[in-house]
Amino acid sequence: MRIGILALQGAFIEHKQALDKLGIKSFEIRQKRDIEKPFDALIIPGGESTVMGKLLHKLKLFDPLKKMIENGLPVFGTCAGLILLAKNIIGENPHFGIMGITVNRNAYGRQFDSFSSEASAPKVSENPIPLVFIRAPRIERASSDVEILLELDGHIVAARQENMLVTAFHPELTDNTAFLEYFIKMVK
Ligand code: GLN
Repeated sequence: MRIGILALQGAFIEHKQALDKLGIKSFEIRQKRDIEKPFDALIIPGGESTVMGKLLHKLKLFDPLKKMIENGLPVFGTCAGLILLAKNIIGENPHFGIMGITVNRNAYGRQFDSFSSEASAPKVSENPIPLVFIRAPRIERASSDVEILLELDGHIVAARQENMLVTAFHPELTDNTAFLEYFIKMVK
């Protein structure tokens, strides 16, 4: 298995380290050439979705990656990656616009800029999972074919729709690989 990590901006190194820990091969996607050889799955990291969106277009990665995701390439989007996949972003134009979720980009406001929590996601792991949120988006609505994996204080923070997995938090910034292992199972 070979997983491509979008490495234009943001927390991509941490995803690589987490995959290394699980013994999964990965490579960084920085330009169009990088996606010419076949690969099995894609990770879109956290960072800044507007910047990533612009770079995706500038580097001509946007259309080919969108097509691959629409054709079923498994993709894991964390935080900004979630925003990039969403069909609707409140008050803004969507980016890939593939996943049936409506996202509020900076839902937590300044006072909750960053925070940690812990919660159980029985479909993902038997044990509680540590959650790190950094200027996190919130999923305000999800279409009926989106499976909700985790809610925190009544808000959806992890979800799956077919080949797409998203978290509003950053599993790669903790030692806990439960969500990544769930994704690996999706890829298999
Ligand atoms: N708030 C950021 C955005 O809008 C996402 C933050 C993150 O990825 N940690 O893109």
